[in-house]
Amino acid sequence: MIDNYSRYQKGLTLSTLKPSIKGLCACGCGRELTGRQTKWASSECRDNAYVSFAIVKGDNEIIRQELFKRDKGFCCMCGVYDDKWESDHVIPVIFGGSGCALLNFQTLCRDCHKEKTKLQSIWYSKLKQFPDRQPLSFVACVYMPLEKLNISF
Ligand SMILES: [Zn+2]
Ligand SMILES: [Zn+2]
Repeated sequence: MIDNYSRYQKGLTLSTLKPSIKGLCACGCGRELTGRQTKWASSECRDNAYVSFAIVKGDNEIIRQELFKRDKGFCCMCGVYDDKWESDHVIPVIFGGSGCALLNFQTLCRDCHKEKTKLQSIWYSKLKQFPDRQPLSFVACVYMPLEKLNISF
């Protein structure tokens, strides 16, 4: 249903991600449906479910909108504000970080994003020889400048 290695979940629909639950709100809040409610306990539940769905699906506009609400344009790596901030997958798509919630997204300034992308591709080419170790090794390595790792490629 979700391909964590693909940037956009083409076939994913709101009702596959948030199916109706008999008598309960489909958003996962646990509230009981009352009166004429058939799926959502409130309009906030419906709106929040739509936003989480759009993020998992890979809708860039919604992802940027929610990232800006959370990070306000400040880089999550160096703390600097960049009015041309970029949205980044914390665990990159090439390591299976797509199709995830906002938790796997961060705001990066252009410099940090460039640097992280560079490290990412170096690590990708090194670590793909060890498929079992990819995600954890990668997460540990990506925030460390290459010179501190004392490894020469
Ligand atoms: Zn709800
Ligand atoms: Zn930065």
